[in-house]
Amino acid sequence: MGIIIKSEPEITAMRQAGKIVATVLEALRLQMKPGMKTEELDVIAAREVTKLGAKPSFKGYRGFPANLCVSVNDEIVHGIPGGRVLREDDIISIDFGSIFHGFQGDAAITVGMGHISPEAQRLITTTDGALKAGIAAVRHGARVGDISAAIQHYAEERGYSVVREYTGHGIGRAMHEEPQVPNFGLPGEGPMLKKGMALAIEPMVNIGDWRTTLGDNNWTVSTSDGSLSAHFEHTIAVTNGEAEVLTAL
Ligand code: MG
Repeated sequence: MGIIIKSEPEITAMRQAGKIVATVLEALRLQMKPGMKTEELDVIAAREVTKLGAKPSFKGYRGFPANLCVSVNDEIVHGIPGGRVLREDDIISIDFGSIFHGFQGDAAITVGMGHISPEAQRLITTTDGALKAGIAAVRHGARVGDISAAIQHYAEERGYSVVREYTGHGIGRAMHEEPQVPNFGLPGEGPMLKKGMALAIEPMVNIGDWRTTLGDNNWTVSTSDGSLSAHFEHTIAVTNGEAEVLTAL
């Protein structure tokens, strides 16, 4: 299939999808608190996205059973909302995608519940910073490896590891398009970035080792060493200048 370059009207549609994702994540961020069950976040996400006239894109994707992914503490990505109760000191990664007028948006944030440890806060801040560093490497004519290297360097310089088995991705009419956008790599390598490409950039950063373990439900991915993990993601468009973040509020 190859890398799909979007026209300006297509990027406009992706802006709308992205804005919806950002709005839903912000509603979740404001409403989530200790004592809630993770399945309550799923209900909020479904309600908010419907209110905005869009559809959640994860539900049914390869059989995924929920509207969003909720990954707690050592869980990295693809956690399934359920009966688990959010507790003070937990860090919660929420990943949400929506489809609007045929185009996808995809973004994630990690939120601390109440007073979290300085170590957990530093992990969250660093992962957010790694995403910003990756986005800052995006420009017409750069390479995917420039994004990967920027993310890896930012996280590893601060003593963390980046997850290797799950990556960012191209995005458009499909949630996952080419190219893959790994969170580790070398500058100057990989496909060239061109104006009109849309990418979901999504560092997953661990306090401990980068290795991951897949849960018994065949979805939830956790750190193999049980260390905390955080996840931030934006959908961006490559322009002639700085990247345009499509999933910003
Ligand atoms: Mg994604």
